[in-house]
Amino acid sequence: MLKDCRTVWVNCLRVIKANIGEQSFKTWFQPIVPVQLHNNVLIIQVPSQFFYEWLEEHYVDVLKKAIYQELGPEGRLEYSIVVDQGNAQTKPRTLNLPTSHKAAGPAPETTPAAALASGPMSSSARNVAAAAAQPAQPATLRNPFEASKAIDRNYLNSQLNHSYTFENYIEGDCNRLSRSAGLAVANKPGTTSFNPLMIYGGVGLGKTHLVQAIGNHIKATNTDKFVLYVSAEKFTNQFIESLRSNAVQDFANFYLLVDILILDDVQFLSGKDKTQEMFFHIFNHLHQAGKQIVMTSDRPPRDLVGLEDRLLSRFKWGLTADLQSPDFETRMAIIQNKMQQDGIDIPPQVVEYLAHSVNTNVRELEGVLISLVAQSSLNRREIDLEMAKQALRHIIEEVEAEVNLDFIQKTCAEYFSVPVELLKAKTRKKEVVTARQVAMYFAKEHTSHSLKSIGHHFGGRDHSTVIHSVQTVSDLIDSDKSFRTTIQELRKKFAGK
Ligand code: ADP
Ligand code: MG
Repeated sequence: MLKDCRTVWVNCLRVIKANIGEQSFKTWFQPIVPVQLHNNVLIIQVPSQFFYEWLEEHYVDVLKKAIYQELGPEGRLEYSIVVDQGNAQTKPRTLNLPTSHKAAGPAPETTPAAALASGPMSSSARNVAAAAAQPAQPATLRNPFEASKAIDRNYLNSQLNHSYTFENYIEGDCNRLSRSAGLAVANKPGTTSFNPLMIYGGVGLGKTHLVQAIGNHIKATNTDKFVLYVSAEKFTNQFIESLRSNAVQDFANFYLLVDILILDDVQFLSGKDKTQEMFFHIFNHLHQAGKQIVMTSDRPPRDLVGLEDRLLSRFKWGLTADLQSPDFETRMAIIQNKMQQDGIDIPPQVVEYLAHSVNTNVRELEGVLISLVAQSSLNRREIDLEMAKQALRHIIEEVEAEVNLDFIQKTCAEYFSVPVELLKAKTRKKEVVTARQVAMYFAKEHTSHSLKSIGHHFGGRDHSTVIHSVQTVSDLIDSDKSFRTTIQELRKKFAGK
């Protein structure tokens, strides 16, 4: 009797369920859809690349066990990964990958999404080898992304990662200018005054995501334009390779074909004079021809030491916009969005806790989320606040050791002889109000918490209450001598903390 994929998968799920925790099962197996069973190969569809990697890393054994029980020794499993959700006009795009024993994570360039993004092209390392093995072919123009083939515009690959879009790039005060400039450029590449567009900001703040979103948007709306994303590091390596293989002209010619050039992490060109010269030449040519140039840097152009002035002055022709660390609300929205994308459910208090606790950068926030989901799977526990605190103790402690809000509250409560919980309660008793206001004042002075975050830690008060408290304490310091002494004594307790 022929088995159908749904029945087989339902049976597999039974085996899996018996072997793993309920939360893990819900998180990682319920979203899977069986799509095909053919010649003993079961194809299951998973929502994202992240999902696929997670399954392969953590559940490959139990999956194999289930497949073995259902389909016998000949049975095999394949994944169909949704790499592009599609829209009303286009169907979702998927990528099929076999299961494997994965000893270590794949190198970034060979991840499924990257494999798809670069199509049949080989990695740059293989290109280097291929180029070295090939005799120079002056008659054909070679593509530095695929050294051995002549360029056919139809096969040019943008090297873009489809998962970076404007839709999943959360807007906040921290990125409003950059994001809207990016959108303007994406809608009218080469014709706005934002040419070049230079986005700068610290690590993990979303530079690559934003510029890739620009590229993806242009590609989707202008199919005739050749968009190219390249990191400055890759650009440099390709250039060096072209020098080695006597193909500098090919290298330059390839880049001159580009309509929208996205160069990521331009600071990498620092001190690399020859590469800068080549980029200068390409930049001038493209700019003159009305082509769009988008760049990112980890610091403002004025701090780009080791970059030639003539290149730096070109950057000023367009718009330079920065990315700041996201505020609390933006962090909340980013977490919610990520969870939704990956099909993971986390209670709202936990989202809030994470957004309060991790205030450095978005990449770190994502790292924390992944580690939380991992802990939940490994310990077979639902994700709740207690678990989030426990799981993230080592990370949060670092943050708290630096800011010491708890210590400030405890010290002020003790000093004024009021129970520390009352600082967070509604009570308006005079001594509690004083202790609370003083603690807020020191929280503002000694921690990096925003006014909003301070308010949150004092029983969910709003930032105007914090401003009022700080002002009241400052006024009292000026007008009341004994109060001033109190503050001085307390301040000593926080010195050096
Ligand atoms: P950078 O290039 O500045 O180091 P990335 O673009 O690689 O940072 O961003 C790090 C991670 O944070 C990525 O996974 C990205 O998707 C995510 N990220 C950054 N900013 C946002 C945002 N505003 N909305 C959603 N995700 C973001
Ligand atoms: Mg980056």
